Amino acid sequence: MHGKVVVFSAPSGAGKTTIVKHLLNIKELRLEFSVSACTRPRREDEDHGRDYYFMTVDEFKSKIEENLFLEWEEVYKNSYYGTLKSEVDRIWNNGNHILFDVDVEGGVNLKQIFGEQALSVFVMPPSIEELQRRLEMRGTDSPDKILKRINKAGYEMKFASKFDRTIINNNLDIALKEAEKMVNEFLTQDPDKP
Ligand code: 5GP
Repeated sequence: MHGKVVVFSAPSGAGKTTIVKHLLNIKELRLEFSVSACTRPRREDEDHGRDYYFMTVDEFKSKIEENLFLEWEEVYKNSYYGTLKSEVDRIWNNGNHILFDVDVEGGVNLKQIFGEQALSVFVMPPSIEELQRRLEMRGTDSPDKILKRINKAGYEMKFASKFDRTIINNNLDIALKEAEKMVNEFLTQDPDKP
């Protein structure tokens, strides 16, 4: 079967992952997370095969050569992230819709690939200052990594208009409700109706 596709993108620290996790917990939506391949080190609370398929840069590059990726990006210098084509088949074969959590350029690419079958959502942080505060609070990245992420965020914000919808994550509860509503409407809409 060919299910639908929901794509969430944002500058990191915008709260996208929290929203994605919330949606995955709503069983009626029948969403399954697309596990990406990546070359950054595994964080303590992450599992191989659940959060990412962690691999070396060499392994990643040989998969690029073999044309196994639907899309991939060097999101940070020497940190490659990509969606394996096999993930799409795996999830659709399970009878589920796919939920992607990818960077903004990956989000634009996936929307282009899947067209009407996809809903792309950009999660906007309230401000760059708030983004910095959140990354520091999260405590998973070193100060220079945080700086890298912040520097990139200004550039990433410019992509918002290329997405179907935008959620401004000022208040998490409201953002979660808004995400739930738009995804539910998209997944249940009748394809024959305009
Ligand atoms: P993190 O290191 O915080 O887990 O992820 C960094 C960024 O890479 C996030 O914006 C995340 O959404 C993005 N990302 C994760 N997987 C993929 C992927 O398969 N493709 C692309 N283009 N970006 C990804």
